[in-house]
Amino acid sequence: MSSDANILIVGQGIAGSVLADKLLARGHRVTVVDDGHRTSSTRVAAGMVNPLAGKRLALSPGSDWLLPAARDYFAALEARTGERLFHPLPIRRILRNAQEATQFAKRREDPAYAPYVGEFSPPGSLEGVDDPQGSFTTLGGGYVASGPLLAALRHILREAGALVEAEFRHADLRVEKDAAHWQGRRYGTVVFCEGMRLRDNPWFRDIPTDPVKGEILDLALPGPPPAEVLNKGKWLLPTATGELRLGATYARDRLDMEPTAAGREELLKAFRNIYPQDRGERVTGHVAGVRVCTRDNQPLIGRHQQFPILTLFNGFGSKANSLVPGWAEVFTAYLEGAGTLPSALDPYRT
Ligand SMILES: Cc1cc2nc3c(=O)[nH]c(=O)nc-3n(C[C@H](O)[C@H](O)[C@H](O)COP(=O)(O)OP(=O)(O)OC[C@H]3O[C@@H](n4cnc5c(N)ncnc54)[C@H](O)[C@@H]3O)c2cc1C
Repeated sequence: MSSDANILIVGQGIAGSVLADKLLARGHRVTVVDDGHRTSSTRVAAGMVNPLAGKRLALSPGSDWLLPAARDYFAALEARTGERLFHPLPIRRILRNAQEATQFAKRREDPAYAPYVGEFSPPGSLEGVDDPQGSFTTLGGGYVASGPLLAALRHILREAGALVEAEFRHADLRVEKDAAHWQGRRYGTVVFCEGMRLRDNPWFRDIPTDPVKGEILDLALPGPPPAEVLNKGKWLLPTATGELRLGATYARDRLDMEPTAAGREELLKAFRNIYPQDRGERVTGHVAGVRVCTRDNQPLIGRHQQFPILTLFNGFGSKANSLVPGWAEVFTAYLEGAGTLPSALDPYRT
């Protein structure tokens, strides 16, 4: 890509926004088109950064550089915008069974996990919480305030004259070998960051994905909220604005943005699994979105086989906040011809 070529980015979720921000910082001319976050899962997500998510309490591949890259990016963006975006919080993992307790004992002995494994608390240490195997705090995590993040980046793009607030129709993009044309302008690279609407993209819709719908409830409690995230399969996240978010479900049917009665019931059951006694909780909100997951839990980053000027930056699953800043940096260098992309991210991998 020559440095004077225009870059078109479709989608202003976390993926398109952070990538655009990095490309602008490198002096590229960027246009981002977005329809007001109509189907954005960033908009609904809780934004958690949890280094030890999942049953195996395992660090994901690349965590050693991806997590610091994410924290550094959000900190730098906070300094530029004056907005509080990343909220560090201990994540208290409530061990659900003997296997998880054994897994925890292993992690505690492993030096690679030392920065992430905090204090163990024996059963009965947490007021009102069912913790038969005890719990421990995961360190180095927290959450990104998704709404303020999107708003801050939208403002940056607007100020740079880089934002087009409109629906992008794929039929309007004229694709040639070395360039694409859209709304009278020539682009040397197009990056699709469309989230779940990858399925509508005529160039990339056949790339295999494993989309998973997720729902989140907002709760109000009469008493003080917990001071840390409580995670017992599902998580309860106290936000800086006083809301309590409870999530999330995983469902592979009805891949739309409609909250469901079944999702609500599943989440309230999970709340009761954490707090067996009535806490006087009240549901104040309920949202849903679709995660673009992949079978190997790696994102989809690379070029179209037939039209290499068309590229994909998607597939961040349930870890966008941990993955996007680091991979956006790598992808920026790649687009500048300064690096390669790991084959593990190739959209056409089998
Ligand atoms: C319930 C739930 C909870 C989650 N919790 C977490 C979490 O705790 N931590 C975490 O890291 N991740 C979480 N995720 C995952 C995370 O939200 C996603 O991986 C991430 O938001 C994807 O970002 P994106 O930019 O790829 O897509 P999106 O945020 O979906 O952005 C795509 C954008 O493109 C726009 N767009 C698409 N097509 C067009 C078009 N044709 N024209 C114009 N605009 C278009 C959309 O409207 C949208 O604004 C969660 C997801 C869900 C659903």
